[in-house]
Amino acid sequence: MFDIRIVYPRDGSLKRESNLAGIDKYELLSDLAKRRGFFWPSFEIYGGVSGYIDLGPLGTRLKRRVEEQWLKLFVQGNDFVEVSTPVITPERVFTASGHVSHFKDLMVSCKNCRRHYKADYAISAAMPARTDIAVEAMSPSELDDFIKGNHVRCPECGGELGQAEYFSTMFRTDIGAYGDVTGYGRPEAAQGMFVDFKRVYETTRERLPLGIAQIGTVMRNEISPRQGPIRLREFTIMEVEFFFDPEEPECALMDRVEGIDLPLLLAEKREVKRSEIIRIPAVEAAGKGMVKAEWMAYLMALSVKFVSSLGVPLDKQRFEEKLPTERAHYSAQTFDHQILLDRWGWVEIAGHAYRTDFDLSSHIKYSGADLSIFKPHPSPVDKRVTVVVPITSVLGPLLRDKAQEIASRLASSSPDEVKSAFDRFGYFEIQGFKVLPSHVRFEERNVRETGRRVIPHVVEPSFGAERVVYSTLEYAYTRVKDRVVLKLPIQLAPVQIMVFPLMAKDGLPEIATEIVCYLEENDFLVEYDDAGTIGRRYARADEIGVPIAITVDYETKNDGTVTLRDRDTWKQVRSSWKTISELCRRYFKGEIDFSALGPPVQVTYE
Ligand SMILES: [Zn+2]
Repeated sequence: MFDIRIVYPRDGSLKRESNLAGIDKYELLSDLAKRRGFFWPSFEIYGGVSGYIDLGPLGTRLKRRVEEQWLKLFVQGNDFVEVSTPVITPERVFTASGHVSHFKDLMVSCKNCRRHYKADYAISAAMPARTDIAVEAMSPSELDDFIKGNHVRCPECGGELGQAEYFSTMFRTDIGAYGDVTGYGRPEAAQGMFVDFKRVYETTRERLPLGIAQIGTVMRNEISPRQGPIRLREFTIMEVEFFFDPEEPECALMDRVEGIDLPLLLAEKREVKRSEIIRIPAVEAAGKGMVKAEWMAYLMALSVKFVSSLGVPLDKQRFEEKLPTERAHYSAQTFDHQILLDRWGWVEIAGHAYRTDFDLSSHIKYSGADLSIFKPHPSPVDKRVTVVVPITSVLGPLLRDKAQEIASRLASSSPDEVKSAFDRFGYFEIQGFKVLPSHVRFEERNVRETGRRVIPHVVEPSFGAERVVYSTLEYAYTRVKDRVVLKLPIQLAPVQIMVFPLMAKDGLPEIATEIVCYLEENDFLVEYDDAGTIGRRYARADEIGVPIAITVDYETKNDGTVTLRDRDTWKQVRSSWKTISELCRRYFKGEIDFSALGPPVQVTYE
């Protein structure tokens, strides 16, 4: 089942001309990533398994910095809270959430070579120009007819394809030794946050709205992933479930994203095969109903801010609204935040879903737990309401020991529901018992209401961290003359400063080491390098995206000054090393430019 290659790229129609000698950036970057330690295929010495990557020393650190940046923007910046819940989750959770029945893909297999394909891949491989075929909307038998009617064959060997079938893309396992509890590797971190909602709500002073975030591992047993770090069977998700009262849907933080436009590709345009993007401020997109919840529009604007901070310009970003047939089962509206990548065209970097009360209501139904919250009115409200009153003198003899239970269920039923059941069927059923109009009466009563019960609605932004890391690297990858310069955003660089002694002798390494210690004590990510010529060391620093290189030379011994070199302009300044910590701190926060780090000097060692 592993290591299936498909010859034609999905979305091949979108592939852009590469300006890098006809080689796409994915290949160039994969080579660099392996050589320098960002990422490589997992289990390499055993031949590898597709859909898995390892992050090397630099990749691991870059991913952590990406996560920190995300936390800063999505969690700390909004006063949201974070949780950590298990990866292996018992089946009942995913039965309630709908994943057991819905988290699956249509698969076709070749009768000749026995390779398996996700159905939409096999079709787009055979008909690359047809981007309008909605495989997601087809049933297995419709798909079989389509494959026969259009003579779709195996993309690898041209053999005949067998019948389409569903394949569950969740990893399944047994919990414990006896196999009596089935578990699944979670395909999203969201369910942990739904199951824990009430507990978190209670521990955070019972406030709504409430944002709960989680960063953690998820697993998806993809049928045939072959897109390197873009489609993985195991990856890190960065997810927020944002809970709000549907009767008070206004976003109080909207002014924080003023000036941020959302580039929207709306479903109504896609339905008529048009692809124009409208740019509209988040607040207006919500006001005009294009985005169905204000908080969702707000989080989409934060998403633009985050993705822009990775170095992706706004004209390479868009939000594609999913068609109803493309949406996950829990979502009332979904936007994929997509960016343009060199090999794969428009790729989803985040999903924004309006999950309404779907998940909480399902968990209430399946677990019996009360996950609603009580919202007190500012002052009690007197109301006149209709109530259902069971006539116990009639029900008692009929139901005997079950009478009390049925009566109390009746008393808490909605009068409108009971009345409409009487109108439609002549009875209202509770636990198999048919309640007749002669069993109840309806009464008007005065009640004092002190508050109301709310099942919060949820909007969710969700990012795959490895995909974010890859996209950041791709947008940073540039060539200057014959050299690779990885122009990573300075706030994300896995190594911020490199320190070089000009020569590995005459006391220079000792001073350089002292500088490394001093900078590390001041919380910089620093590395020391004394191998090779100074020019080669600069080139190495450029290639892994180090923003500042410090060189210790003979002058340093006399006056304590060092040379600082800028990765992006190759300009150099001179400064006393004992005072650079504060300047560098401000530089990495984006408060000052490189030129403010010291007076310029003639470039001597390039
Ligand atoms: Zn085949």
